[in-house]
Amino acid sequence: MKASKAFTNRIGALLLTALVALACARTVSAAQQEPVYCVVCGKGPLSGTIWKHRHGTFCAECKARPERCDHCGLPILNDFLKTKDGRYICKFEKDEVVVDEQQAKLIFNQSVKSVLYLTRNVMRLKGPAPDVRLFDIDYWNENSSMRRGGFSQTRQVGNNFTHNVILLSGLPKDELVTVCAHEYTHLWINENKESDREIEFHTIEAICELVGYLVAQRAGFDEQLERIKKNPYTKGRIDELLEANRQYGLFKVLEWVRTGQNARVSLAGGSASASSSGMTPPPAPAPTPKGASSSGAQGNGLKLTSITRTAKGYRAEINGVQIYGRELKRIAVNGRPANLQCHRVTADSALVTVNRGTPVELKLSR
Ligand SMILES: [Zn+2]
Ligand SMILES: [Zn+2]
Ligand SMILES: [Zn+2]
Repeated sequence: MKASKAFTNRIGALLLTALVALACARTVSAAQQEPVYCVVCGKGPLSGTIWKHRHGTFCAECKARPERCDHCGLPILNDFLKTKDGRYICKFEKDEVVVDEQQAKLIFNQSVKSVLYLTRNVMRLKGPAPDVRLFDIDYWNENSSMRRGGFSQTRQVGNNFTHNVILLSGLPKDELVTVCAHEYTHLWINENKESDREIEFHTIEAICELVGYLVAQRAGFDEQLERIKKNPYTKGRIDELLEANRQYGLFKVLEWVRTGQNARVSLAGGSASASSSGMTPPPAPAPTPKGASSSGAQGNGLKLTSITRTAKGYRAEINGVQIYGRELKRIAVNGRPANLQCHRVTADSALVTVNRGTPVELKLSR
């Protein structure tokens, strides 16, 4: 008799953190040195109460606009993208998000390649390549404060597996890469965990997150590392898994999935390393250099080439784009489009943030 089994990773997906309007009010005094313009409608110089947002400042009129960006909560006026299910993506993020199924499939394949590289093909699936689809309507997200970026399913008939993956449209590319790695890991676990082997639900999610984390690390997606660590989804198990990975390496974690006894990784008892199945894990691959910065004297893909004093103040040229303090511009970083937020330009330096990451001080090399 052939056993037929379906594994559905019910909450088997990445959650996005709460989509709260990340803005706070501030009052501009007439004596304020620098004029402030609304990043949404362009009006200004603004006075009175304004709203600060990570993409810039917006006015009270825009504060009242009902449409908000699905990712960052910025009011929507023009130059936006609307998904078929009615979600808005703002002008700062619309070029970063994936709404095309072909592109999503390519990203899935790239993500899988990275997983296979990191695991020296240990995580290659037995079954045929998963069927990957992009879905607009996030019908599986019942909880409005948390949202899932993907969904995966495995069907087993005898020793044959077939896999399906659904990805949420409108996710930023770097996030989608980690979602793909997460879902792929579910499929691998479905193939490799014995049916009588119990692994705690949150631990399974954390293992999937760990693989997403390592793929993000390899790609230099620092924001995703932070997002995964802060994601409440794994109930803190991600910390245990990151620690297990640090102490024993990913291969031991995968081996534990296959042959371990416990439902949770217990670091004190060393269960992640205790498995003595005789399987020798391959050596961990050497860490890849991050970002592969070409011109980057700064090592982060950013090159500050000049600073000019103009009537408006100091203007920096970074990766060929001219930018003043407090401006936000699109630039190319390591061949990828990115948002460059400039905080301050001085006579010989610029303080900037790329894609809402950690601020970096760029020095003019003489
Ligand atoms: Zn999951
Ligand atoms: Zn406005
Ligand atoms: Zn946005």
